[in-house]
Amino acid sequence: MSEKRIWLSSPTMHGEEQLFINEAFDTNWIAPLGKNVTEFENEMAAYVGCKSAAAVTAGTHALHMAVKLAGVGKGDIVLCSDLTFSATVNPVSYEGGVQVFIDSERDTWNMDPEILESAFKKYGSKVKAVIAANLYGTPAKLDEIADICSRYNAVFIEDAAESLSAKYKGRQTGTFGRYNAISFNGNKIITTSGGGMFLSDDEDAVAKVRFYSTQSRDPAPWYQHSEIGYNYRMSNIVAGIGRGQLIHIDEHKNLKTKIYNRYKKAFADLPVEMNPYTSDCEPNFWLSCFTVNRDWAERVTPEKIRLALESENIESRPIWKPMHMQPVFAGRDFVTNGDSVGEDIFARGLCLPSDIKMTEEEQQRVIDIIKGLF
Ligand SMILES: *Cc1c(COP(=O)(O)O)cnc(C)c1O
Repeated sequence: MSEKRIWLSSPTMHGEEQLFINEAFDTNWIAPLGKNVTEFENEMAAYVGCKSAAAVTAGTHALHMAVKLAGVGKGDIVLCSDLTFSATVNPVSYEGGVQVFIDSERDTWNMDPEILESAFKKYGSKVKAVIAANLYGTPAKLDEIADICSRYNAVFIEDAAESLSAKYKGRQTGTFGRYNAISFNGNKIITTSGGGMFLSDDEDAVAKVRFYSTQSRDPAPWYQHSEIGYNYRMSNIVAGIGRGQLIHIDEHKNLKTKIYNRYKKAFADLPVEMNPYTSDCEPNFWLSCFTVNRDWAERVTPEKIRLALESENIESRPIWKPMHMQPVFAGRDFVTNGDSVGEDIFARGLCLPSDIKMTEEEQQRVIDIIKGLF
């Protein structure tokens, strides 16, 4: 294995990140806050087109703040995407809420609005909030979901951790929920090494997130607290990396799009299907994925493909295992409309190398290895 590893999705730095960090060093604004944090928030809010943003230590923490602000408490029901990363739904448990998982639709792999509506009919006013993720950078039917939430008086939380820069009907994701979360984890489309942001048009909500994430200090000369606080605020160094990355986000998106389209073209004759999206949206193609067609899926399993790639020092990854199949959520309700779509995608799907530093030659190697298995 002499050739260098091809990654699923690894950080890509450009140089400006270092300049913003240097500036923080030169002014000794290392922590806690400082100019980079404020500017990163302003630049991100302007980029996605929402009024305000609060930078925090993780996308998970942004989601936790969203769940808390939605007023989720002990026993409250939160309707959640089923086919997603566990970080989408864990914050519900932090606040004592109960997840009910909503199956995916075929055409985006995201929360099915019709099934969401039937879950509202089942649970009625017990539902406090809805958390929908845009899987692998493909927007869910965000306006339909937002509309259902407002009809049933539930708070819509959009988990745009994977979809920053993707658009739905011309509008950036991360703006459709009352509260929205994005992530700058190491493998996301842009990264700060680790971090996240809470986005909202509700400036009071954003101010509240800043308050909670800095230990809920009352405005008093001494340390006085009337509410439980959290240590969730992003540091000025980390925000400097983010400012440098944000300059390059559309470039990252273009490269990801090219990777997806090359796979799509190369696999046109194979019994596989790329992760689908609807014509009214513009995914960021964070991860290119495919499912093996049913008549082949027993012979060429995703795991067989993954191991063949791994033996050539190439990283790929199974599709997220649906939340209703997770041991930790045993006993939670799962609402579906027949056979589980998420379970089927999990059984037949694989996330392909989508690293923007992967050359066309390297991607061709990936393609050739996969073609050789059919
Ligand atoms: C990465 C991710 C998160 C969590 O973000 P972190 O910054 O890693 O805490 C949440 N939801 C989804 C769908 C993600 O992919």
